[in-house]
Amino acid sequence: MARLPFWLKAVLLTIPAVLLIVFFVLIAVGWYVRNQMLDSGGELRPLMAAYDVRHYGLDVAVNPDERSIRGVNRVTVEAIEPLNLFEIHLDGRLEVASVEVDGEPSGFEHDDGVILVSLPAPWNIGDRHQVTISYRGKPKKALRPPWVDGFVWSETPSGVPWIGVTSEGDGGDNWWPCKDHPSDEPDEGMDIALTVPKGLVGLSNGRPLGQITNPDGTVTTNWRVGFPINNYCVTVNIGPFEPVEVGYTGVDGNLDETLVFWAIPESIEDARRMWPQMPDLLVRLGRRYGEYPFLADKFWVAQTPYLGMEHQTIIAYGAAFEDNGYGFDELLLHEVAHEWWGNKVTVSDFADLWIHEGFSTYAEALHVLDTRGEESYLDYMQWFRTRSAFRTPLIPGANLTCYQVMSPDLYGKGAWVLHMLRSILGEEAMAEILWRFADGDNPETCRFTTTQDFIDLVEEISGRRLDWFWQRYLFTAELPSWKMTRVRDAGRERVEIEWDDPSFEMPLPVQIGDRRRLIDMTGGRASLEVDPSSEVVIDPNHEVLTAEPKP
Ligand SMILES: [Zn+2]
Repeated sequence: MARLPFWLKAVLLTIPAVLLIVFFVLIAVGWYVRNQMLDSGGELRPLMAAYDVRHYGLDVAVNPDERSIRGVNRVTVEAIEPLNLFEIHLDGRLEVASVEVDGEPSGFEHDDGVILVSLPAPWNIGDRHQVTISYRGKPKKALRPPWVDGFVWSETPSGVPWIGVTSEGDGGDNWWPCKDHPSDEPDEGMDIALTVPKGLVGLSNGRPLGQITNPDGTVTTNWRVGFPINNYCVTVNIGPFEPVEVGYTGVDGNLDETLVFWAIPESIEDARRMWPQMPDLLVRLGRRYGEYPFLADKFWVAQTPYLGMEHQTIIAYGAAFEDNGYGFDELLLHEVAHEWWGNKVTVSDFADLWIHEGFSTYAEALHVLDTRGEESYLDYMQWFRTRSAFRTPLIPGANLTCYQVMSPDLYGKGAWVLHMLRSILGEEAMAEILWRFADGDNPETCRFTTTQDFIDLVEEISGRRLDWFWQRYLFTAELPSWKMTRVRDAGRERVEIEWDDPSFEMPLPVQIGDRRRLIDMTGGRASLEVDPSSEVVIDPNHEVLTAEPKP
């Protein structure tokens, strides 16, 4: 056997070494990214299940030069079970300076993102207590906000600090101490005091209560959140903002409110161009789901250095101020729709997150339906189909964390679930379902919900059991497929259509010649007599989500 030339030997020996290096780099990058994603939700820890958060009182000062924060959270809770120890979340990157229980200093440990506090005396069921946590440090920087969360230390084009924070995936404990679980919100609301350097505007959730200038020149603004709030919706926006205002008279035309967009100076003209569309968007949302829920607090939107987030009463908008070709800004509408779907009506387990994302995404399509009609609405829905991957079920389990469920399907496929329900039940029933699920008659009442609540409501209003629908579209990743055969028999011709599962009974629109019919698929099949010369097209307008999306 001939000997290999030296250069070839060198190359052959180098390849495994290079592959090994690539392998370790990938592992390191994966580890780094995973380390940048805190869990939120999931299985509720027993000590956290033992109390109910009544109120948060958060004071926080932000220092852009040091990229640090310093804060105090006064957490008021009620014991649901007897307690000797108290637990609350805070990312380990931040340092806990002290903890007090009902005003007395208390011992604590801070490990693995959880502060464990020893209680001076046991708590009994129904007792109300206050735990005060002082903390400081450099919060986690956002790797890819709003998808991989944290603080965003940005600058405006002219170099002025422009700061924000996102927390949906991580939970609010990436920057403030909270019970990081979607099932508990402060029933009595929240007070926030935000301190920012002189010359910058600091914006947060809730109603502004006034401002003071501190001896060191910093400025503190106080905010009162008069409603329950998701911990991930609590936020700060800091920058050289200027307000753009527009009046709002409400769904019934008798309100006298002001909607404010806070823009950085470079975007003020864009904001002035875009903002006048807001009252109409809000009225149309209100007609479908009830009046905007948080009028008693405010309706503000802040321009952000990241794409967007549904921060309650201070929506984050970081898009390009562009019309989407349907006469509105879809990111703005989507985030505002979350004030109903996510903020007013909230899931208590992230496993049901499709209710926040699917319903807000569908709100975009309904806006198109209400302003441009059925054909444009169908076009808009097709676009959502291309945005879905159909790789995991919409509801992939129970007691899940936000990052475990986050997928493009929550948006596109989630909207399609509602779109197909509308096809099956009709526009009128669907409008009633959405109105009642949003509790449109009680605009100011926030509540928790589950997918089962939605299923029960749909079945109550329609009077139909739709097990086959939920099973296939909510709990299965794989989309259904159909088979069509033409059978000729003694000069007659039949078309046999069959779903891949006999228990799946989704009706199918069928075009026979120039006639369109909705075919009943009881038992997963149908048989139609047709004229031998007529062409048969299944689902001509692509109204049913199937495995082979047709062009
Ligand atoms: Zn969303």
